[in-house]
Amino acid sequence: MESNIKEDLILFNELIDVFLKDEQKNPVSNIVSTTELYEKLDFSLQEEPMILPDYKNHLKNLILNTPKSSSKLFFNQLFGGRQSKAVLGDLLAVFLNNSMATYKIAGAQVGVEKEIINKVCEIIGYGNKSGGTFPTGGSMSNFMSLIMARDKKDTSIKDKGINQKLIAYGSKNAHYSLEKNISFSGIGKDNIRYIDTNNKGEIIAKELERQLKKDIDLGYYPFYLNATAGTTVMCAFDKIKELSDICKEHNVWLHVDGAFGGAVIFSNRHKALIEGVSESDSFCFNAHKTLGAPLSTSVLVVKNKKNLYNSFSNKATYLYQTHNEEFNLGQTSFECGRRNNALKFWTMWKAIGTKGIEKIVDRQFELADFARKYVINNTNYQLYSFDDSLSVCFNYKDIDPKDLCTKLYENNKLMIGYGSFNDDTFLRLVTINNQVSKKDIKDFFDILESFVSDNMGELKKTEINN
Ligand SMILES: *Cc1c(COP(=O)(O)O)cnc(C)c1O
Repeated sequence: MESNIKEDLILFNELIDVFLKDEQKNPVSNIVSTTELYEKLDFSLQEEPMILPDYKNHLKNLILNTPKSSSKLFFNQLFGGRQSKAVLGDLLAVFLNNSMATYKIAGAQVGVEKEIINKVCEIIGYGNKSGGTFPTGGSMSNFMSLIMARDKKDTSIKDKGINQKLIAYGSKNAHYSLEKNISFSGIGKDNIRYIDTNNKGEIIAKELERQLKKDIDLGYYPFYLNATAGTTVMCAFDKIKELSDICKEHNVWLHVDGAFGGAVIFSNRHKALIEGVSESDSFCFNAHKTLGAPLSTSVLVVKNKKNLYNSFSNKATYLYQTHNEEFNLGQTSFECGRRNNALKFWTMWKAIGTKGIEKIVDRQFELADFARKYVINNTNYQLYSFDDSLSVCFNYKDIDPKDLCTKLYENNKLMIGYGSFNDDTFLRLVTINNQVSKKDIKDFFDILESFVSDNMGELKKTEINN
């Protein structure tokens, strides 16, 4: 079988047709356990080429045995759904195969990326010195913000290494990438201060202030606060305005990690959750989470673009041969060759408008409200989360949430995960897929309840600890 793109695109359509029909009929794929994996599927790579009908069958078998992350019964992760115009853009990006490093190789695609960055900066009120980039995901966005903060504190660190006691601050509920990033940066995990949170999981500003003063008195150099707009488990929003006042007073970089909840910037109804973001130094959100773009679509913006150049530009004569740094986007990115992750967001935004994006966000909050009300109005449920959150955290009939999630999965009923906050563990229903309906949410509860009633004997109960 030779390389023939036209034929392969026909094959692609054929495979997707099979996949979409199956997704309708079986929103949860039959799970393949790790022990059956190599019996059920043939992954072997052989010396000889394969003939087309066999090849096609192998591909069908593979995609039909892959978890269906875009179906209406997938609530397992902070991404879900499928915005078709974004998928279209991503398919085009694969086909075009530009690298975003220079204008010479990306050309018009540079305009696509810059327009999104400019628009996001405008929406959050970052002013005319702002800029940004499309890192590989939220973890990388957080990493880049940390490096900018480090280099802003002392530009000589880039050359000489770290000689001062730099201290970073984050919420107790900050995403785990903070911990990895601080180790990669050479600052070290022991130099993060995890600040206590209130009963929703928001940073207690007074605690931050107390810790900052203590560290300064001891001769340390506070340089970075990682605040969260939508914590990963409970979807709590730190009070950015209050935190930014404290950060400014102590010359600490404020990064707002909005990987999960940051898309509220698009919603007039919900943007108050992130009030004060215009005062932050950097901000990121994942359009692959809340907006239904394919993985990964992460936007990082920075109030003063100089910081991006300062930390990420480098000389490379084999790469930068034409145009200036304004259009050679590799001067502000971590990667060298970089995938075009902006196009899918642009094709979607262009098609549905900013108003369409607002609708997506509003819809997710409506679905969460619907689910939360169901939990509140039903005595067999206990709710752990709160209003204005896209995570609906609950337990049902004192059943052990870990056991319930696992058995729902093993029986091909639902894809849902559990989370913990303080001493509680619970199921976490995330209404991240705006294409599900209220009826689908109701179906979710029906499936869960009938599964429990059929399997009551085998399900573990939560241990009550007083
Ligand atoms: C998901 C998430 C991240 C990580 O984003 P990736 O794109 O998965 O690397 C960071 N922060 C928060 C709050 C998240 O929910």
